[in-house]
Amino acid sequence: MKNSSMKMRPENTELREALSEAGLRYTAQREAVYDYLCSVYTHPTAEEVYHAVRQRIPRISLATVYKCLEALVACGKATKITSSSGPTRYDPRTDRHIHMHDVRTGEVRDLHVPPEFPIHEQLQAQLENLVRQSGFRITDVRIELMGYFDGPGHGSSSAS
Ligand SMILES: [Zn+2]
Repeated sequence: MKNSSMKMRPENTELREALSEAGLRYTAQREAVYDYLCSVYTHPTAEEVYHAVRQRIPRISLATVYKCLEALVACGKATKITSSSGPTRYDPRTDRHIHMHDVRTGEVRDLHVPPEFPIHEQLQAQLENLVRQSGFRITDVRIELMGYFDGPGHGSSSAS
């Protein structure tokens, strides 16, 4: 990795392409919002993104941050985590993965699942047998864990 002279990171090229494919413009605000989203593992709320991105773009408004986040979701570079309790959060990961929701703090983190443990695929296979009689077709499986962080391991990043 000797590309220190190259300022544009490969993610940003991907972001530019994803936005353009979705018919959306690449803007400095969208880039800043996306960069921040990728730099943390906390699945921030729009307000948290706003406070962080203001360090880089002082004149950005909360409404613009919301629009940037919606643009990132629309072009497939982020997903929205909605919960019945607490504000909407945003995730730069768009692959299937498991979230740990801390019911005390509202914090959301990714659970690292080893590749040799394909839990979604296994669960989907089992559920397909169960839902067959209902005439339901599974297109996706989402696993959310509710609980709280307590004890060893809390505080370690799992942003992979
Ligand atoms: Zn996540």
